[in-house]
Amino acid sequence: MSNGAAIVGSGPNGLAAAVTLARAGIPVTVFEAADTIGGGTRTGEVVMPGVVHDICSAIHPMALASEFFRRFELAKRVEFVVPEASYAHPLDGGRAAIAYRDLDRTAAELGRDGEAYRRLFAPLLQQLDGVLDFGLGGSMLRWPRSLPAALAMGLRTLEQGSPLCNLRFQEDAAPAMISGVAAHSIGTMPALSTAAIGLVLSVTGHAAGWPVPVGGSQAIAQALADDLLAHGGRIETGVRVQDAGELSGYQVKVFDTSARDLARIAERELPEDYVRALRRFKSGNAAAKVDLVLDGPIPWADPRVAQTPTVHLGGSRAQIAFAEAEVARGRHPDQPYVLLAQPSEFDPGRNPSGKNAVWSYTHVPNGSTLDVSERVIAQIERFAPGVRERILDCRVTTAAELADYNSNYFGGDISAGAVQLQQLIARPTLSPSPWRTPGKGIYLASSSTPPGPGVHGLAGWHAARLILAKEFGKSLPSLAV
Ligand SMILES: Cc1cc2nc3c(=O)[nH]c(=O)nc-3n(C[C@H](O)[C@H](O)[C@H](O)COP(=O)(O)OP(=O)(O)OC[C@H]3O[C@@H](n4cnc5c(N)ncnc54)[C@H](O)[C@@H]3O)c2cc1C
Repeated sequence: MSNGAAIVGSGPNGLAAAVTLARAGIPVTVFEAADTIGGGTRTGEVVMPGVVHDICSAIHPMALASEFFRRFELAKRVEFVVPEASYAHPLDGGRAAIAYRDLDRTAAELGRDGEAYRRLFAPLLQQLDGVLDFGLGGSMLRWPRSLPAALAMGLRTLEQGSPLCNLRFQEDAAPAMISGVAAHSIGTMPALSTAAIGLVLSVTGHAAGWPVPVGGSQAIAQALADDLLAHGGRIETGVRVQDAGELSGYQVKVFDTSARDLARIAERELPEDYVRALRRFKSGNAAAKVDLVLDGPIPWADPRVAQTPTVHLGGSRAQIAFAEAEVARGRHPDQPYVLLAQPSEFDPGRNPSGKNAVWSYTHVPNGSTLDVSERVIAQIERFAPGVRERILDCRVTTAAELADYNSNYFGGDISAGAVQLQQLIARPTLSPSPWRTPGKGIYLASSSTPPGPGVHGLAGWHAARLILAKEFGKSLPSLAV
């Protein structure tokens, strides 16, 4: 009898694959290099004792939108707070644009551009399932589930991903808000890849919303691990798999590693041309993190920014595009794009002393060792004068340190492979089932595969579906509670 499946890595994708296989009755063992599970979904007292911060992910546009999490009924297993305002985008002059779950309310506050913004998103919201399938459904080499939804997305991606992106707008707030979301993908703008991701994320913000997991991101990893253990799976932490040969007793090996690490670990089990293709898969630019502890709320110039845990800092569309272009040129922009989360007000149980745990990161060139705290704090101060006086503590994690923390993030590339159009189509190679490698029983399930980065578990789930069909001749099990 085979030992079933070995999963290398306990990030959300590794755990999603593990849960799906264990639910189908396959014996599953997860090997995790770190001492704790979770990959990019860990939470801890990393800045100040008694104050918890999310170590990697803090913002969860996919927690309610991912088909895997919906089947897994994540919302029944993790308590979520879902704010009415999904994200805010402060602008100079004390103004801000707010993206509410309610599209009409969002549009009503966008002045002369409200109707243009509403017309951009209303057709996507009306075909939400088709749009989510277009963005997250699997390999780009497949027939979309809904042609009208794919067409609506395609046309809007062409518009927002090209120099036509400002044509429908007259003012700065609406386009800035779209760019603030598109910049999550760490790429130049306008471009088709950043536009497509920005549109899908924006739609989730105007639909079920961007929820805050009570207790932090770790709650998501824990829910997955609990289910795995309840279905007979095993987890071994503190075990770094260095060579696929160590797993020879397992019928199937699922790698929640980056494509470049798979090339190294399984070099002897994979055909040479495939290893070469994995090595050609490019790393992207990086993130550098700045976590703060404040003695109270951020004094936003526009107090409405406090209504939401997620804030995009960087100013106008042109300013964000310039900052991202600087990063792509290998420079550290003076006024960088900053993604900020302020979850304390929404989940006060995390920080009982009342201190405000502020999480943020900015984009930097791959491999950067620069301490970006001064630039990030200056960007916050730009939209929240006086914030500097409220800072009790600050911890910087450079891009190089993020790579040390998790080998999937080569040079601080938190996407495990640049998010560019060609690498969204061929992720990591051109195939209708890119999770399956040509090596016997070897699968890749990390964000180096579709649908790419983010906490959604979808790459792991797509890989597990394929494994059940191809290796075990089993159908997909129920994942419900
Ligand atoms: C600073 C930062 C902020 C982020 N913010 C967000 C956010 O707000 N929202 C969001 O959706 N996403 C965010 N992300 C991205 C998100 O965390 C990742 O896309 C997601 O975690 C990828 O999941 P994964 O399972 O593919 O890999 P990971 O979560 O990276 O997990 C991979 C795991 O595999 C382990 N591993 C690797 N190699 C080996 C080996 N050889 N042997 C054993 N174990 C191994 C690693 O230790 C790690 O635990 C952020 C990431 C970072 C770093």
